[in-house]
Amino acid sequence: MLEMFSLKGKVAVITGASRGLGRTMAKGLAAAGAHVVLIARDKAKLDAVSSEIAADGGASTVLPIDLSDERAIRTGVQSIAASLGRIDICVNNAGIINWQPVLESDLEEFDRTMDTNVKATFIMAQECAAVMRKGGEGGRIINIGSVLSTVGRAKLHAYCASKSAIVGLTRSLAAELGRENITANVIAPGYFVTDINASVTGREGYVEAVSGVTPMERWGEPQELVGTLIYLASGASSFVTGQVIHVDGGISSTFKFQLAA
Ligand code: NAP
Repeated sequence: MLEMFSLKGKVAVITGASRGLGRTMAKGLAAAGAHVVLIARDKAKLDAVSSEIAADGGASTVLPIDLSDERAIRTGVQSIAASLGRIDICVNNAGIINWQPVLESDLEEFDRTMDTNVKATFIMAQECAAVMRKGGEGGRIINIGSVLSTVGRAKLHAYCASKSAIVGLTRSLAAELGRENITANVIAPGYFVTDINASVTGREGYVEAVSGVTPMERWGEPQELVGTLIYLASGASSFVTGQVIHVDGGISSTFKFQLAA
C-alpha cells in the first residue's frame, strides 16, 4: 500500500532548495527515495543541504543556477537529463516577494518578481516536460503557489499577480501534457516562518495576527508540506492534475474574525 508513495528510482528536480520550504521539501523527496537535484544560487547552502541528505542516506546533485538566466536553466536541465538519464519530477518552488505600495512601485521590481516566480517556472516546466516526454514514462510538475494565488494583499500586487499566474500556467500545462501522462498541480502554502517573510515577522503582533485569522490558530511547519508534495510527486496521485491544494491551516477558505463568535 505505502509502495504507491515511493519515489525509488525517480529523479526529482527542485528549485529554491538552498533554504526555507525548498530545503525541507528536497529532504522529503530524498527520504521518499528520489535522487534530488538541488537548484538555487547559493552553492555553499546547496552543498550543506546535499550533505544533510547524504547523512540521512539519500542521494542528491547540486546545480547552482540563477533562475533569471534562461540559458542557464535550459543548459542545466539538459545536463541533468544527460548525467542522470531521466527527470520524473519537477518542483518549481523558488520565489521572491517585494513589498511596494501600488502608487510607488516600479516596473523593475514588478519584472523581477514575474521573471523569478513565473517565467522561470515556465522555462523549468518546459525543459523538464521535454525530457519527461522523451523518457516516455510521464512525469510530475509541481508548482508552488500561495494563499495569495487566490486572494489579494495590499502592497503585494506583483507577488499576488505572479502567484495567480502560476495557477493559470499550471492548469494550462495540465491541459496540454495530460496525454503524455505528465501531471501538473499547485501546492499553495499558507504562512510558514522562513526568510521570505522575515521583514514582517519582526513587526509587533504580526505573527499573532496571522494565527488569529487561521482556523488552526498557528503558522505551518515546513515539514507539513512534505506529505502533500510526496502525494503529488508519486503514483498515489496518478489521476490528479490541474489542481490547487492549499496547505494553509484553512486560512484560504474561511473568514475568521479575531474576536470569538
Ligand atoms: P525563502 O526562504 O526566501 O527561499 C527562497 C528560495 O528561492 C531560496 O532557496 C533562494 O535561493 C531561491 N531563489 C530566489 N531567487 C532565486 C533565483 N533568482 N535563482 C535561483 N534561486 C532563487 O522562501 P520560502 O518561504 O522557502 O518560499 C519558497 C516558495 O514558497 C516561494 O515560491 C514562496 O513564494 C512560496 N510561499 C512561501 C510561503 C511562506 O510563508 N514561507 C507562503 C506561501 C508561498 P538562493 O538565494 O540561494 O538563490
